[in-house]
Amino acid sequence: MTGTQINYYFLCHRKLWLFTNKIDMEQNSDVVSMGKFISESTYKREDHEIKIDDIVLDFYDGKTKIIHEVKKSDKMEELHLWQVKYYISVLEEKGIDGVTGEIDYPKLRQKIKVELTPNDKTELSRIKDDIQKIINLNTPPDIINKPFCKSCSYYDLCYV
Ligand code: SF4
Repeated sequence: MTGTQINYYFLCHRKLWLFTNKIDMEQNSDVVSMGKFISESTYKREDHEIKIDDIVLDFYDGKTKIIHEVKKSDKMEELHLWQVKYYISVLEEKGIDGVTGEIDYPKLRQKIKVELTPNDKTELSRIKDDIQKIINLNTPPDIINKPFCKSCSYYDLCYV
């Protein structure tokens, strides 16, 4: 499971299904491109983007055991928190204890700390089960008709 799938679970179940079933239109999205640009330019002097199994960390500081995730968004969202909580759980499964996270919002000039509590672990397990059910559906979930659909890379597929 990837951080992107966790992210899409909170955003739109249809998007989660389309992405997981390799209907990949992300390269057409300006929003995704801008996110990548901000991520790369923010940490351009760091040895960033560490791949562990199916997840890619923007930057992991081995000394402080802090996962850094950069978000281009101009608002803080629950899905960002869960993405980083998931990354912490993956490192814990690899035997690395005491990992925390930090989400950097360059546009907001703010950082928030992230921890994985025992309750979070239970909730994360439920979320992962739910994701499996969604991605195993034979057909994609319904269109959600939200304002942010206009900036989604699947907009044409869903609405045109
Ligand atoms: S356009 Fe809207 S309904 Fe379609 S995948 Fe994107 S967010 Fe979901």
